[in-house]
Amino acid sequence: MYRQPTITRGEILKATGLNPASLSHCLQNLIAAGVVLRVGEIESRTGRPPDLLRLNPDAAYFVVVDLEASPIRFAVTNLLGDIRYRWEEGDPADAMDVALIAKGVEMVCGPMSRRELDAILAISICRPGIADAEGRVTSVNMGWRQFPFEKKVAAAFDRPVFVENGGRAYVLAEYWLGRARGIDHCVYVEVGKGVGGAIISHGTFFQGRKQAEFGHITIEPDAPDLCKCGKRGCLEAIASSGSIVRQYLEMVRGSQRLPGGINASEVIDRAQRDDPQALAVINRAMRALGLGLSYLMAIFDPELFVLGGYFVGAEDFLLPRLQAELAKYVREWNGPYELAVSRLGLDIGLKGAAALAFHRTLADETLLRTLCQKRVWKSETRKKAG
Ligand SMILES: [Zn+2]
Repeated sequence: MYRQPTITRGEILKATGLNPASLSHCLQNLIAAGVVLRVGEIESRTGRPPDLLRLNPDAAYFVVVDLEASPIRFAVTNLLGDIRYRWEEGDPADAMDVALIAKGVEMVCGPMSRRELDAILAISICRPGIADAEGRVTSVNMGWRQFPFEKKVAAAFDRPVFVENGGRAYVLAEYWLGRARGIDHCVYVEVGKGVGGAIISHGTFFQGRKQAEFGHITIEPDAPDLCKCGKRGCLEAIASSGSIVRQYLEMVRGSQRLPGGINASEVIDRAQRDDPQALAVINRAMRALGLGLSYLMAIFDPELFVLGGYFVGAEDFLLPRLQAELAKYVREWNGPYELAVSRLGLDIGLKGAAALAFHRTLADETLLRTLCQKRVWKSETRKKAG
């Protein structure tokens, strides 16, 4: 029901293997609770026309936060991940406090009615960095070293809080809602503040013991580019948006006047207008990324790479360059493969957090009960009033 707009009982029976009596019982309860809606009938020449069913998108809401985005993004989504309200918060300079997240959540919930606020099931946050078993997060981009993030956010809100690594949220958003829908071997690569890659292999999210960090593979061992992790020549130190700006400024310093606060999109624009220094920086970044992707190709042999971050909006210029670099290093036994730019755009983290929240709600008995009971209570009061 989550994956398709409408569905019939017959399709559910086929997909779940439930027996018809059990399914009827389930659906009766879900319809009474307002979680499932009957939206019409399919025409039928014989017998009773089959009902068309769908999830009620407004049966519940999630508050979602993308800490990887710049600026940090907040949204309220419905059950299906459609964004209802949004809020952005400027870039925190170095370290980031949970109070700032709490403030953003308060702001995004500001326009909601009492009824909508009551229907918020959970808060779902995608964060950068690596967490240990106790939920302490180390993120060089956030300035966190073993920061007890999960404990702090859990204490800050009166709803369950789900925290997930951004890369995982992004690839699952692509897999459940985006370009990689139904593609069981795919890689999502985010190239922005940092460089992150996340892998779906055989339809399952691939994860190492703690977490694989694609951005910190060494791409140019002798390069002078110092990474935030302390090493030199990391992919992130060459291809992240900050690294692009840094390299460009280093090249043009003294030779031309630059407007203050230049960003990566501006460097990409200049490269498209044949600014030789900008072009050199972008070509170097694409070469580094192409090499990086070729390693993933050699190990995971995906059918599809989806690119996000600064690729969104610069697809026509960047994708052919990356494609050409990658093609240099892919062996003939790999492929065919495809390169695509995310269509979820800047909302990918919010969508991923919402999709994760939905799937975690399904796995959580207490939350499922809350989702269903609320509506039962409402229909009972309506009955009494009637
Ligand atoms: Zn690094």
